[in-house]
Amino acid sequence: MRVDVVTVFPDYLAALDLSLIGKARQAGLLDLRVHDLRDWTTDRHRTVDDTPFGGGAGMVMRPDVWGTALDDVLGEDGHLVIPTPSGEVFTQRHAEALATEQHLVFACGRYEGIDARVAEHYRAAGRRVSELSIGDYVLNGGEVATLVMVEAVGRLLPGVVGNPESLVEESHGAAGLLEYPVYTKPPVWDEHEIPEVLLSGHHAKIARWRRDRALERTAARRPDMIAALDVAGLDKHDVAK
Ligand code: SAM
Repeated sequence: MRVDVVTVFPDYLAALDLSLIGKARQAGLLDLRVHDLRDWTTDRHRTVDDTPFGGGAGMVMRPDVWGTALDDVLGEDGHLVIPTPSGEVFTQRHAEALATEQHLVFACGRYEGIDARVAEHYRAAGRRVSELSIGDYVLNGGEVATLVMVEAVGRLLPGVVGNPESLVEESHGAAGLLEYPVYTKPPVWDEHEIPEVLLSGHHAKIARWRRDRALERTAARRPDMIAALDVAGLDKHDVAK
């Protein structure tokens, strides 16, 4: 997959050199390029923003600078992703859908955001444009949101996570539940013991225990997910185990 990120703070994206995403880049699974939006400015001050029409606080990012940058970067098939707190909330379903794309382009806003005509323009031109929020809070810029989305999408690409089995039973997966609690050695730590069933070697009992804990945890922490649960699907999932 090819990913381009356009930002006024390219250094923010340095974290994408680390860990599994960094390794995926080195292995050629992910071709990730970071661009400085100011490289597309034409004035001496390399201006990317201006005051909002209609008045109000803050500055808005100029559509002409973004337009020139995105015309260069989007290429033939780029899917434009604009992180914004006013977007649809990004979920694992969005990550799965974006992971099927060949080319993603992230446009990182700053200040009061990017002039609304930029998204309209590329939609009208027949481009896929996703305006996505990583949650109901406001950050200073789109870089952190882009890091979140690139990591969530990148780990779904074949070969990025060493053992693909780790992706199967995760929170927000096919079962629609949060993951059960997990434990490792030592079996007793500071007087806390691990649940005995996990030492039983009885796979069906362990699977049942995990399913029950996942349901319990989801009910306590995310009643919205319980309400959305496909009960028939849950039974099938149980049978599959
Ligand atoms: N005035 C905007 C509003 O109220 O919707 C907020 C702009 S915010 C200060 C600046 C930039 O941070 C946005 O353009 C976006 O790129 C990014 N941003 C802030 N919060 C975000 C969130 N929850 N999800 C995704 N991007 C976010």
